[in-house]
Amino acid sequence: MELPKRLKEFVPQVTAICAAQFPKQCNTCGHIFNNFQEFVVGSKNLGTHPNHHCNPGSLIAYRNCPCGSTITISCTNADIHKVFHCVLDEEVKVSGRSAKDLLLVLLCEVDSLALEPDSPR
Ligand SMILES: [Zn+2]
Repeated sequence: MELPKRLKEFVPQVTAICAAQFPKQCNTCGHIFNNFQEFVVGSKNLGTHPNHHCNPGSLIAYRNCPCGSTITISCTNADIHKVFHCVLDEEVKVSGRSAKDLLLVLLCEVDSLALEPDSPR
């Protein structure tokens, strides 16, 4: 599934915001993910929060640590949050796809970018 062009433009920013939150430690088993790339490779993607619109901070990604605990990373910050959700709302109307659908595709693109050798980390 293709990501609309205007949402695609957020992928590098969102990737950088995610990458800036590392190293990150699992609260349950103590496993340390040194960088975003290690996290993408070493954890299981559980998708996004279904009620992201109700949660002012966020696009939040949910992932499972190999120990089975859920680890969340916040993928937006205050600077891009407002404009991001405006674009998302418009793309939902234009494409007829759900916001959650579009966010999942966006997160897949973020994962792919994180795995490129020259991505921010
Ligand atoms: Zn763990």
